[in-house]
Amino acid sequence: MEDIIHNLGVVHKRIENACKKFGRDSKDVRLLLATKTVSAERIKIAIGAGEKLIGENKVQELKDKDGVLSKLNIERHFIGHLQTNKVKEVIKYANCIQSLDRLELAEQLDRRLQNLGKNMDVFIQINTSAEDSKFGIAPDKTISFIKALKPFETLKIKGLMTIGLLDSDLEIMRPCLRLLRETRDRVLGDGIEGIDSLLLSMGMSHDIEIAIEEGSNMVRVGSAVFGNRIPGKEVWH
Ligand SMILES: *Cc1c(COP(=O)(O)O)cnc(C)c1O
Repeated sequence: MEDIIHNLGVVHKRIENACKKFGRDSKDVRLLLATKTVSAERIKIAIGAGEKLIGENKVQELKDKDGVLSKLNIERHFIGHLQTNKVKEVIKYANCIQSLDRLELAEQLDRRLQNLGKNMDVFIQINTSAEDSKFGIAPDKTISFIKALKPFETLKIKGLMTIGLLDSDLEIMRPCLRLLRETRDRVLGDGIEGIDSLLLSMGMSHDIEIAIEEGSNMVRVGSAVFGNRIPGKEVWH
């Protein structure tokens, strides 16, 4: 318990310092806690310390922790790869889906949401590292993808999300983060109807500072708060 609260203090300080250093307003950078493999009880400690936003990678984990977390006043985002056959479940638990990466998924989400008379906030996942192993829209297809989402009126496009290249050398990550910002700027420059602003969800435990320097509005932090996850239980997409 002490650890989580201490670590949260360290992470908030890192965010604050990076904002100061790079001339960003700290109100423009939210902390999302990436809580895959973290128990609901441990997540509750962070929420007790004032956190309001978590992200899960698996629908099963959202479901398993729902009994505890649905009673709390927090936002739950889905940040993992979303299979089409999990759409019905995920919309029961998530307030936002950050991994919208294909039209078929948009279609399924829209159909289910229409039936429920609900809307859903979404981020479009962009593959900024051009790795086959990563999901996401190619940066140069982002504008056409967003235009193709127009019929799906239940989906409210809030931003772009990326994972980027995972490497201990932070400068290898930077071009991915920059590419997400440039992609955002190109989309906004295109003047698509209804798209007046887009948040950037990028940056994780090891690259919080660079992500803020490159314009992140939401850093997704797991291990720096909850400690290292058990190897083999990782889900990186
Ligand atoms: C696990 C995860 C994170 C957080 O990673 P850490 O290195 O533990 O901070 C961020 N984004 C996604 C999509 C993740 O799966």
